[in-house]
Amino acid sequence: LEEQIRRSDRLKTIGQIAAGTAHEIRNPLTAIKGFMQLLNKTLTERNMSKEKEFVRIVLSELERVNDLVSEFLLLSKPKEIKQVSMRIGRVLQEILPMIRNEAMLYNVTVLYYPKPELNSIVADKELLKQVFLNLGKNAIEAMNGGGTLIIRECSHPDQLGKIAVEISDTGTGISADALEKVFDPFFTTKPQGTGLGLSVCQRIVHDLGGNIEVSSDEEGTRFTVWLPNAAGESEKEIQASGGERSSYD
Ligand code: ADP
Ligand code: MG
Repeated sequence: LEEQIRRSDRLKTIGQIAAGTAHEIRNPLTAIKGFMQLLNKTLTERNMSKEKEFVRIVLSELERVNDLVSEFLLLSKPKEIKQVSMRIGRVLQEILPMIRNEAMLYNVTVLYYPKPELNSIVADKELLKQVFLNLGKNAIEAMNGGGTLIIRECSHPDQLGKIAVEISDTGTGISADALEKVFDPFFTTKPQGTGLGLSVCQRIVHDLGGNIEVSSDEEGTRFTVWLPNAAGESEKEIQASGGERSSYD
């Protein structure tokens, strides 16, 4: 619990700093990007390929700063959640094309196991998409030499009133040491990482009344996102009528 308080204090501080500066950073970024794109056009017209390469690098670095600022903004955002009733499958369907696209670059196979009989959830779709995109991206990044990403909807008799989404990978796994820190803001083991993805995920899921679990070994990693369903306890009936267990356990 102390650990959680420490974490949430840290998040709050970061949030306050972020709120004050993120917008101020983003506005000039937008201007820089716009002029760089103009420059790019001119360089194309004049066939200046060396200079174009410089511009390409500037634009991709700009993209990185922009991503970082976006994550800051998400962390600092006050809880303004648009709660809508939806099926979790709808959220996942919308991000699957993006995940599959990314997976292709890493030689990763994506398997998706929907479970349409699950109860609806009440949540903010855009925020949830952010969560599963971040988790999917991390999973793919952990499988540089290829592997399998499994996205599975499920429920559990011990967790009535909740639905779960499991994101499992066959990647590098997370060391016991790192496992304690993965949700800490700025904790990253990647040369170009921000270390903010999982803190954003955790923040969002907590705001939606859910929680995230992680387990990992040398065979891979699994993140489980638990979310309260819209009907509470009536999930019991679904379980009773024979919710099948996947062999991936
Ligand atoms: P970033 O991706 O920018 O490093 P995150 O907060 O998304 O930041 O993740 C923090 C760290 O947690 C990563 O740098 C990585 O070490 C570890 N991690 C997260 N997801 C996975 C995964 N699926 N497999 C292995 N390591 C992971
Ligand atoms: Mg990440």
